[in-house]
Amino acid sequence: MSVQPDQRRPVLVVIEHAHDTAGQGRIADQLRRRYGGDYDVVDERSGAAGLTTLESLRDRGLQVALVLCDRPPPAPGEDDPADAVFGQVKQLYPEAKRALVVDWGAWADRATADAIHRLIALGKIDYYALRPWRSPDEYFHRTVTEFLLEWERSVSAAPREVTVVAERWSPRAHELRSLLVRNGVQHQFHPSDTDEGRTALAAAGLEDATAPVVLLHDGRVLVDPTNTQLADAYGVDTTLGAETDFDVIVVGAGPAGLAAAVYASSEGLHTLVVERESIGGQAGSSSLIRNYLGFSRGISGAELAQRAYQQAWVFGTTFLLMRELVDLTSEDGWYVLTAADGQRARARAVVLATGVSYRRIGVRSLEAFEGAGVFYGASVSEARAMAGEPVFVVGGGNSAGQAAMHLSRYASSVTLLVRGASLADSMSQYLIDAIDAAGIRVRLHTEVVDGGGSGRLAWIELRDRDTGETHTEPATGLFVLIGAEPHTSWLPERIERDQWGYLFTGPDVMDSHAARRWPLERQPLMLETCVPGVFAVGDVRRGSVKRVASAVGEGSVVIQQVHRVLAATDPSVARP
Ligand SMILES: Cc1cc2nc3c(=O)[nH]c(=O)nc-3n(C[C@H](O)[C@H](O)[C@H](O)COP(=O)(O)OP(=O)(O)OC[C@H]3O[C@@H](n4cnc5c(N)ncnc54)[C@H](O)[C@@H]3O)c2cc1C
Repeated sequence: MSVQPDQRRPVLVVIEHAHDTAGQGRIADQLRRRYGGDYDVVDERSGAAGLTTLESLRDRGLQVALVLCDRPPPAPGEDDPADAVFGQVKQLYPEAKRALVVDWGAWADRATADAIHRLIALGKIDYYALRPWRSPDEYFHRTVTEFLLEWERSVSAAPREVTVVAERWSPRAHELRSLLVRNGVQHQFHPSDTDEGRTALAAAGLEDATAPVVLLHDGRVLVDPTNTQLADAYGVDTTLGAETDFDVIVVGAGPAGLAAAVYASSEGLHTLVVERESIGGQAGSSSLIRNYLGFSRGISGAELAQRAYQQAWVFGTTFLLMRELVDLTSEDGWYVLTAADGQRARARAVVLATGVSYRRIGVRSLEAFEGAGVFYGASVSEARAMAGEPVFVVGGGNSAGQAAMHLSRYASSVTLLVRGASLADSMSQYLIDAIDAAGIRVRLHTEVVDGGGSGRLAWIELRDRDTGETHTEPATGLFVLIGAEPHTSWLPERIERDQWGYLFTGPDVMDSHAARRWPLERQPLMLETCVPGVFAVGDVRRGSVKRVASAVGEGSVVIQQVHRVLAATDPSVARP
């Protein structure tokens, strides 16, 4: 090892077999020049030496943020050595970012391309990096900086803007933390029975606190805050100002609603978005969205949502957050929307982007453990707490697969519980392969029928749906991702939906029983419900594709249709 790392600083490890021949030195030199103030850089020249170094770093309790390794050519007939090196790096430092270093143009080499595809599919690397060939090579440094940002956000030790101190398995603390995560607010959690927790409480003069305490880095202290108090504290709008009339009101700030907001405000429409929970909707709970166009390495749902939120805000969208809409009426050519706390706003057009939420598991004994071992959705905030513990994921869809993969970074074992006979019917093949490679157990024909524990979940009972046999297994976490229900029960009956609650739009309106409601001579526009001027986009729409990209696409194109309706009602707000 060329440098003795400092005990306090994270380490960047470079395993570089070949190096730049144009005189720019080894990758480690470039990293030292750029990051040397905050990180230690160690440099090895073979996989074996690199692994020995990583073992020694781990034994000394040091953090490793990034491992960059290039690929020595495999000997004829032998396995690719990069597989073994990265596989072991992942075991030693599961949270470290890992990248294969390749030379510019090497993607044209079949063996290199295969290695990249294989290592990503197996979760052994996060991505690849191009070997820097000049100094400074800003493209290389952008890749490294992005890795470091992602790593810093994934580790618990880094100081954060918000600190939550609470009993380790407090369901209310889980709700608060989940809200913070889904809103992209960085926070750290200290259980109140740890030294860090006691120190933080003592500093706030709250040694005896039993309810969750939230400490902000500017010194503010919230004791047992409501969701709205917490949201106010991190600076989002939860009340409307004097202005209550808009061109368009978008209900829901998931990907579909955020896209509608960006396009509406960028095209000059006075736009309000009302969201009952968190920016990003379901996508906000996805740890890594890999199939959204343009983000080749994937992006966390919370990060994508934050970017979209800022984009809409910069264009002038008004947001009303933490407010659930409970009524939609019409009055003098306006649609009037009422929130649960009585706040009202009106607009000439409404875009319903209310999405769906996970169906409940329906096992009564498990209800008491919600937030204390039983979680709906991927619950990114809880994954780390599952370190070394047995975890179960219920569901056979892509979101269940992603959750299982994410949890497998921490848990001692992950088991996917699927009611059906095969994963292939419901999950993408790339995830099935990754699950297999990660050693995640898959139990088909299986359902959860009971569970229990003292204060937190400790076991579950499983039933084989073929044989009827039951048995119990120790379980610290049960993550439920079993299909969805649309958020439409609050809407008036005249906005017609199918038997599952999904909203009819466009041609579906005229092909269904909703046709009897349609009052105009013109046909409903593609995303219009059976009430003219009320549109539905994203997952809540009957026949929608249930993907981020399609939700964003629908949210974007609906604004063109909103313009047409507004032009008919008030030409002054119409745009070409
Ligand atoms: C864990 C997970 C992982 C996923 N991973 C991927 C992936 O990798 N790739 C992919 O393409 N798709 C993925 N999906 C699916 C994707 O997230 C959804 O298709 C997408 O979020 C749908 O967007 P939406 O805006 O239509 O609805 P949602 O995201 O469901 O957002 C709807 C919003 O409306 C709000 N709302 C509902 N009712 C009201 C009301 N009455 N008043 C105010 N607000 C209300 C909700 O709180 C919510 O924020 C994933 C989903 C999950 C859960």
